[in-house]
Amino acid sequence: MGTSGMVIVGAGEAGVRAAFALREHGYHGSVTLIGDELHLPYERPPLSKTEDEPVRPIVAEARFAETGITLLRGRAVTAIEAAVNTLALDDGDSLPYERLLLATGASPRRLQGLNYGKRVHVLRTVEQAAAIRQAMQKGHHLAILGGGFIGLELAAMGRKLGAAVTLIEVQPRVLMRGVPERLSLALQARHLHEGVNIICGVGIEAIAENDTSVSIALADGRQFDADALVVGIGAEPNNALAAEAGLLLENGIAVDDHLRTSNPDIFAAGDCCSYPVAVYGGRRVRLESWRNAQEQGTVAAANMLGKAESFDAVPWFWSDQYDLTLQVAGLSDGATSLVARPISTEAEILFHLDPDGRLLAASGLGPGGAVSRDIRLAEMLIARRAHPAPSALADPSIKLKSLL
Ligand code: FAD
Ligand code: NAP
Repeated sequence: MGTSGMVIVGAGEAGVRAAFALREHGYHGSVTLIGDELHLPYERPPLSKTEDEPVRPIVAEARFAETGITLLRGRAVTAIEAAVNTLALDDGDSLPYERLLLATGASPRRLQGLNYGKRVHVLRTVEQAAAIRQAMQKGHHLAILGGGFIGLELAAMGRKLGAAVTLIEVQPRVLMRGVPERLSLALQARHLHEGVNIICGVGIEAIAENDTSVSIALADGRQFDADALVVGIGAEPNNALAAEAGLLLENGIAVDDHLRTSNPDIFAAGDCCSYPVAVYGGRRVRLESWRNAQEQGTVAAANMLGKAESFDAVPWFWSDQYDLTLQVAGLSDGATSLVARPISTEAEILFHLDPDGRLLAASGLGPGGAVSRDIRLAEMLIARRAHPAPSALADPSIKLKSLL
């Protein structure tokens, strides 16, 4: 089937962006994008944030035909025969490639030993989002395991829809990793104010589902029933294809700064891969964020065409809960001091500095876009490996732009 050309496995954020970037870079050969979901490729962030119909296509369907990109939907790639540059598909077809991009994303982590029946949910796809919204009706009781982004964003949505929400986090506070304590406690306080019952520092002893409810027993002896349970305990990279093809793995598919795997004809981008972050001296991380998937898709496409673009973006993500937006630029690991900058009575930015005073990351929380501009400027400072004076960072009358 088909002729050799550029082939992309995974029609999510990274895969779609890469397909269009191949055209933007002037490639006129064959581009095939293969996705195992039936829907037109869609945005995932709204799935945990908007209670309205959440299917938002990444690009309009007509754009695929207009740009000559072949989109195979509802088709899974089952194997990579790397020695002969060929893919095997679930219907028995095979497809040759000149260059291949793996953009297979990640899947929700499953709780060991838990039987996932009709009332126990995870969230990654539009179908799962629809099932969770059904469970969030007014008067229903939704239990959420995990105080990460899925858990907190769904808790906010559940309260908006009138459901009772109990959120269980085994750590002493929500968003324990990657978000400074002060901001995570501010978010936690807002959830409590909105009526979310947050239980921190307690694990789950047992979960049992019957026809009408889910019974949850906590490790401290408490027990309660809910109409449904969402398990939001992180995601794991979809790297089975890469593993079977013998590609190097390291917390996902390992790529170099050109997003090339250990096979020179195969690239990877998005949630499925780990890469060396240039701005932190090449420390390897795997990011699970929307902008990273887009930016890596763009750079991978360029390199599939023989360019030598290094991926050097500063990590960035956001989360919306109620009217609040959290934004984090950079990676705060290794930071030893925090400097707070008030933006307004309801918004602030925390700067994370290393022992030499280098700005490693900035985390902001506030209503709407209150922290957006300054986080953007912080990102530029991080990219420049700046050592801004803490007194200037703390003083809102000094424009961050002047520190660039
Ligand atoms: P995906 O979007 O997961 O796409 C991978 C695709 O590949 C999937 O469709 C998968 O089914 C398909 N696939 C896998 N294996 C195969 C195969 N063998 N054959 C064919 N197809 C295959 N990030 C933020 O920064 N901010 C947010 O607010 C935010 N909100 C989010 C809310 C939710 C509910 C979720 C789930 C994620 C959110 N994210 C957010 C994260 C962001 O959506 C992801 O980082 C991004 O979607 C990753 O894109 P990707 O292309 O790497 O993977
Ligand atoms: P997450 O943000 O990584 O949070 C997972 C939470 O579950 C953490 O609090 C984690 O605690 C906890 N946990 C991990 N393993 C556990 C276990 N075995 N038992 C109990 N708790 C456990 O992941 P998520 O909220 O599930 O989100 C899944 C994916 O969707 C991620 O890719 C995420 O980036 C994406 N997403 C992103 C956004 C956003 O960026 N705004 C919004 C929604 C979804 P520890 O920290 O201790 O591990």
